[in-house]
Amino acid sequence: MIQIRDLLFRYPRSPFVLRIEEMTVAAGEKIAFVGPSGSGKTTLLNLISGINVPEQGSVAVADFPINQKGDAERRSFRIATIGFVFQQFELLPYLNLLENVLLPYRINQALTMGPMVRQRALALAEQVGIADKIHRFPSQLSQGEQQRTALCRAVIAEPKLILADEPTGNLDDENKRLALELLFEQSREHNATLVVVTHDMGILSGFDRVVDFRGFRAREVAE
Ligand code: ADP
Ligand code: MG
Repeated sequence: MIQIRDLLFRYPRSPFVLRIEEMTVAAGEKIAFVGPSGSGKTTLLNLISGINVPEQGSVAVADFPINQKGDAERRSFRIATIGFVFQQFELLPYLNLLENVLLPYRINQALTMGPMVRQRALALAEQVGIADKIHRFPSQLSQGEQQRTALCRAVIAEPKLILADEPTGNLDDENKRLALELLFEQSREHNATLVVVTHDMGILSGFDRVVDFRGFRAREVAE
């Protein structure tokens, strides 16, 4: 599902360098990215989703060579293929919770909105305990509620790849459990590949593989 080779990425005017010789993630695999803050975990998710483009090397997702495409093509590919839970949620402030969850249906021309979709959105919100707040705007939601809204939005359209950047960072233990259950269940039911950035060592056993970012270099530490 994801193939990275000889990747080199740098931000302008920043000493940070991300180098990955090779990383392959199989379709349906559940993989966790761990490592200290600033080691490049978010940067790599942005490279996988085509938000960032590498200076050298290749990144392919579902055989689509992301690094060889222009902005518009990368964006449509991302919208059609990837569900992204951003570290800062990136909810739209002028849409309520339900409208935020349904956002992929507004921006992806290939998707058709209907009663079934709305039903699914409500079921997902119910599953993570925010169904009673669907009419609230992001500013009227706690960080944890915003995070769960972002989770529902990432999975609503049944993407083949789910990227989740510290998706349980703002949640208490019970909501953490519900959030992870949602991610794992969606991955299982739709055979989606799941990549989760986490600091939570307690949840690693649920993943097929853990990649440690210590020393900037993604080094595989567990099988
Ligand atoms: P992590 O998610 O592992 O905490 P990031 O990928 O966010 O790390 O950041 C990796 C490094 O790149 C950090 O040193 C960070 O300061 C730097 N960085 C992140 N985003 C930018 C940016 N837009 N411009 C310049 N430097 C950045
Ligand atoms: Mg990060």
